[in-house]
Amino acid sequence: GKPICECNACFAGPDCSDFLSDCVVDADSGDPTFLEPFWEQHAASSAIVMAGWHRMSYEFNDGSLISEELKTHIRRVHDIVGNAVTDGRFIIFGAGATQLLNAAVRAISPEGSSSPEKVVASIPYYPVYKEQTEFLNSKNYKFSGDTSLWKSSAIDSSSSQNFIEFVTSPNNLDGQLKKAVLRGPFVKTIHDLAYYWPHFTAIPAPADEDLTIFTLSKLTGHAGSRFGWAIIKDEAVYHRMLTYMSISTYGVSRETQLRVLKLLKVVIEGKGREMYEFGYKTMKTRWDQLSKSVSLSKRFSIQDLEPHYCSFSGKVKKSSPAFAWLKCERQEDKHCCEVLKAAHITGRDGSLFGAESRYVRLSMVRSQDNFDLLLQRIEKLVTEEYASK
Ligand code: PMP
Repeated sequence: GKPICECNACFAGPDCSDFLSDCVVDADSGDPTFLEPFWEQHAASSAIVMAGWHRMSYEFNDGSLISEELKTHIRRVHDIVGNAVTDGRFIIFGAGATQLLNAAVRAISPEGSSSPEKVVASIPYYPVYKEQTEFLNSKNYKFSGDTSLWKSSAIDSSSSQNFIEFVTSPNNLDGQLKKAVLRGPFVKTIHDLAYYWPHFTAIPAPADEDLTIFTLSKLTGHAGSRFGWAIIKDEAVYHRMLTYMSISTYGVSRETQLRVLKLLKVVIEGKGREMYEFGYKTMKTRWDQLSKSVSLSKRFSIQDLEPHYCSFSGKVKKSSPAFAWLKCERQEDKHCCEVLKAAHITGRDGSLFGAESRYVRLSMVRSQDNFDLLLQRIEKLVTEEYASK
């Protein structure tokens, strides 16, 4: 069994069974520990042991910073799921998708253009796109807000304005499958497909874009390993990204690459479906429970998601998103986060995603204990709504 090292914030005592009734439930972080029970079931086959002498070198034997065997396994994972075309594409690793996001922006914005490229995303967007672009403060590109502001300038060839659009599909927060919004000769896209896995969405077709980014964090749940990869069509872009990785960190930790390889072997085992079946069932049950509770409320609502045909499962799949995008409907509840805080729930304020504070993102990917408490607190809020009438 798993040793109990520390209790969840809502429990105390030697075996973590004393419930602290006024504790705060953290539904803020997107830490994907919902997959922990799957890995507990596969503890032995997913374990690695490294002798002290192993993998000490800066490079692999072929001189590269990237394990070819791991690359082959990543291609295999995509082939089984059918969520990305990898044939004839270049693959590069990064310290989480986080590192690859900026590496990608840099690689596709040429040096020395007359005006900086505009980096845009559709509201509500993953805040790191803005934070990173502003923090790194390059003269070659600037964060320029919501895509909808730029639809006409993107097709106007006389404006000679270049755009880099982040497309997040399914979107981090509302779980919608997305396509690029901007069109035109001066638009380049980066597809962030962190959640394009059967746990969170139907897989209608393999992605076949110029540049896509994936992360281990949302595939197997190992966010702490800091591992992501990009699939790239253009060789010149691939080389520029390799340079970025080489100059910034000299590649991804070899221990991480070894661990990822071991994990992916378990993912691929059998018919390569077991983890996804567990992941989907868990996320769908959570979504069903939360939607049922919120459907009884007039004070709160959550996003509507359409079922889509999934080529991986061969059927139309119901929703199982990673996040609930909760809206406070009452005029006076302008700061939805405050309403939830009073009910001992921490969520993430909609304004961080470029939306109104009337919205809050609630994470549903954490442990079962955490989700059960979140659900309990939401149910209590909904019950109070009726009691006060
Ligand atoms: N993109 C999206 C849309 C995400 O939600 C996340 C993680 N929350 C990332 C990228 C970054 O993932 P990583 O842990 O690999 O850095």
